[in-house]
Amino acid sequence: MTRLSQAFLPTLKDPPSDAEAVSHKLMVRAGLIRQLGAGLWTWLPAGWRVLRKVEAIVREEMEAIGCQEMLMPVLQPAEPWQKTGRYGIEEMFKLSDRKGSPLVLAMTHEESITTHVAQEIRSYRDLPLMLFHIQTKERDEPRPRAGVLRTREFTMKDAYSFDRDEEGLERSYELQSEAYGRILDRCGLRWHRVESDVGMMGGSGAHEYMAPCAAGEDAVALAPDFAANVEATELRDGDPGPNGGTVEVEPAIEVGNIFKLGTRYSEPLGATFLDETGVERPVVMGCYGIGPARIVAAAIEQGADERGIVWPASLAPWDVHLVSLAKGDGEEQQAADTLYDELREREIEVLYDDRNAGTGEKLTDAELLGCPLRIVVGRRGLAEGIVEATERRGGGELRLPVKDAAAQAVDALVALPALDADDG
Ligand code: ATP
Ligand code: MG
Repeated sequence: MTRLSQAFLPTLKDPPSDAEAVSHKLMVRAGLIRQLGAGLWTWLPAGWRVLRKVEAIVREEMEAIGCQEMLMPVLQPAEPWQKTGRYGIEEMFKLSDRKGSPLVLAMTHEESITTHVAQEIRSYRDLPLMLFHIQTKERDEPRPRAGVLRTREFTMKDAYSFDRDEEGLERSYELQSEAYGRILDRCGLRWHRVESDVGMMGGSGAHEYMAPCAAGEDAVALAPDFAANVEATELRDGDPGPNGGTVEVEPAIEVGNIFKLGTRYSEPLGATFLDETGVERPVVMGCYGIGPARIVAAAIEQGADERGIVWPASLAPWDVHLVSLAKGDGEEQQAADTLYDELREREIEVLYDDRNAGTGEKLTDAELLGCPLRIVVGRRGLAEGIVEATERRGGGELRLPVKDAAAQAVDALVALPALDADDG
């Protein structure tokens, strides 16, 4: 239940002066996030609702492929990192406890999960296994930027697969890859899967999930049935595409990636199992990361217009932004209160603008916040027996009869124009 008059939802006319990315500007202006320090951001209630929606989608799709959720600490002993040779990474925050034992703040969790698997897995019968958590990462990024796009503390969904051999890894990798496609489709993103460098993770193969948008730090070369990292291809903007058409280079945000790690971590950390013939072998691993904050920012980048955010319905903080134009108590106020209750009875998430504020301010805020359906209850409409509903995407307008407004609003939400999402 959210009444705007009581909500912690501070909207702003102007973006922060240092903001360049559209998502950075709009997330601050719409009251989704506030900055606490360099690369450190707080999610305010409205933003937190959105982030949790992304996390719920990620969680459902992980569980659907048999990947089990758990939770590992952010504060960790340094030892496993020394064993894998990653203790020296510059982005890692290091500290020590009162006894002087060296600790780190996890920038990722390969070391901890592999430690657990090394202790618990004995036999080929314990495999395959897929585990994930949604947990805070700490990274001393050299250049935090663009609001939540590159921060020093962020939440990641990181999943890990454990198999007996390369063939098993291929199967786990494919399951994750398909789940990633479903996650990004459900989040309403336009995205592409591209091959990537193996980089600091080590291993035998990797893909990145790229969401094209102006704020992207990476660039992808796109043509019909073709997508590649610009660094990984000879192709340039305007070249003929490998499968026809013309190559277009677009900036993009990396929202997720998947790696075939092989035995990069199982060997140094001693994660082995006994195979059918009693021979001890290292577990073959994969890891699969996704950044919910980047998904939120990418959805804003891709959908926004000059008036503000345009959410994919699946991520919107509320389904309906209900605006009462009433000044003080009266028939208008009562009609809006009633509709608010009726919508909530139908399990619609409603942000109810019951503030004592001007019409212009209320409508501007509704457009800035970008919920899929805005419903305005005003004297003029009520005189004709209707309330006015407007679709944020596409601007379609509906006149809903007051008596049946809640039911018809539900129908309108179900019928919202589907996003024109690409596949990978
Ligand atoms: P990048 O190349 O952008 O630095 P990365 O390769 O370091 O990303 P991973 O370590 O594989 O990323 O993390 C997995 C996912 O976590 C990324 O795809 C991204 O969505 C998210 N992520 C990584 N670093 C950040 C960050 N500093 N701020 C917000 N999200 C991040
Ligand atoms: Mg990085």
